[in-house]
Amino acid sequence: MSAKRDYYEVLGVAKSAGTEEIERAYRKLARQHHPDRNIGDTTAEDKFKEVTEAHEILVDENKRERYDQFGHAGVENGAGAGFGGGASSFSDLVNDLFGNFMGGGGGRRGQRGPQRGADLRMALDIDLIDAVRGAKKEISVRRHEVCIDCVGSGSKSNKRNTCPRCKGRGEFIQRQGFFELRQPCPTCNGTGSVIANACTSCKGAGRIQVERSISITVPPGADTGLRLLVGGEGDAGEPGAPRGDLELVIRVAQHKLFQREGSDLFVPGFPITFSQAALGSTIEVPTLNGRTRLNVPAGTQTGTEFRIRSEGVPELRLNRQGAPVENTRKGDLRVTVVVETPTQMTKRQEEILRELAEIEHKQVSTHRKGFFDKIKDLFASNDPEPTR
Ligand SMILES: [Zn+2]
Ligand SMILES: [Zn+2]
Repeated sequence: MSAKRDYYEVLGVAKSAGTEEIERAYRKLARQHHPDRNIGDTTAEDKFKEVTEAHEILVDENKRERYDQFGHAGVENGAGAGFGGGASSFSDLVNDLFGNFMGGGGGRRGQRGPQRGADLRMALDIDLIDAVRGAKKEISVRRHEVCIDCVGSGSKSNKRNTCPRCKGRGEFIQRQGFFELRQPCPTCNGTGSVIANACTSCKGAGRIQVERSISITVPPGADTGLRLLVGGEGDAGEPGAPRGDLELVIRVAQHKLFQREGSDLFVPGFPITFSQAALGSTIEVPTLNGRTRLNVPAGTQTGTEFRIRSEGVPELRLNRQGAPVENTRKGDLRVTVVVETPTQMTKRQEEILRELAEIEHKQVSTHRKGFFDKIKDLFASNDPEPTR
């Protein structure tokens, strides 16, 4: 808030106004700007806060005196603090205040209305294939449903008796200094009445816990940690109130072959033979959709990574509401090769290898050099340009 308005001006009363007149003006304005009546209207919320603050100062004799003398500076820090004995949040403040003047206006404290059902949260385990392609899943959810036998009333006969604890008032009143603290009766939840003839199916609760099967759509490209919000599939609310929501947190299981790195798939250590690596070859590598051909050039080393475009995971994009947005971009498939040393060989294979070894040995022996020359050669062979 910028410059503060004068408290008398806020409430529209004269400086000489008595407490009763201030109360009256306050109630009228508080009702008018109450957030429950102006949902989503932040100006109303600000007005309500302003009115509340002005009232708090002007009905307190000490604070009013300080305010009259020093203006806002005289009551800074005082405003808001120490209010009503522990109203910590704005909504507490609203509840306390609204409760107070509703009570003051005669009759029972305004009920909060039927409570919305609780939100539920569950983990949803899927495999990599489902995560990549998207899937429809049937999941079992344990949640509260409205009891069919009593339609949520909790009573067989749908009759209610006056609450014995609060005698139908629905609240208890405590005085704390100037303020009246009204608390809803815990026995009847502030309704003032209790069930007359408890329903046997739900033991009067009005709701029962059941397993429900729910269909879920997993979008293509889902990854561990993705939250899917399924509106209205949480716990049933009290009669007349909406259900809670169901939130699913995706967990993708490890795949035997493919690892996932964002929208890329990764195959670490795809084996190729020594001759394939040395002479070059076309190999077949698995993809999520089958297989594809990969060209391995002559002289390929262990650890070389090949990239196959668009054989990875679809990039999942979500809008502000968390719903998937059409997107055709896909990650890549990356394959790292490992040159395998042959272990079991036929006689012929062994012969050829021995021949190879002999050739290499001859080369070494005909070009026999001194120790330091060998080290020089070693460095040279690490350079990218040696003859091959
Ligand atoms: Zn019931
Ligand atoms: Zn009661």
